[in-house]
Amino acid sequence: MPKGVLIIDDSPLTQEQLSKIFIEAGYTIVDKVSDGISASHVYKDNQDKIDLVTLDITLPGKDGVEILKEIMAQNPKAKVVMVSAMGKEKIMQECLKIGAKNFITKPFNKEKILATINYINKSI
Ligand SMILES: [Mg+2]
Repeated sequence: MPKGVLIIDDSPLTQEQLSKIFIEAGYTIVDKVSDGISASHVYKDNQDKIDLVTLDITLPGKDGVEILKEIMAQNPKAKVVMVSAMGKEKIMQECLKIGAKNFITKPFNKEKILATINYINKSI
């Protein structure tokens, strides 16, 4: 069965880029979410189909750190990779402590994403 990914990002361009890369890598896009408020609900409702979450830091409604905490509370084994602009190293370190598996800094490319996915799949 193909692995499912949930993309949480308010940038349509980033959603599009991530979708393309994950589909090429054999993943199914379970959903794409643009706002912080519905993010953890969508995760909860689709938890059985989601193998990986990409989570933007800056989102309308609720930020990525808060959503990460909610997802980890729902499923301590969740595989979440943070996506952010450069210059957020401190927040990224905080996210790793909360339970994020890794982070990707924008701008990213296919190789960077695939390397991150491989790292996560191998480390767990
Ligand atoms: Mg954003």
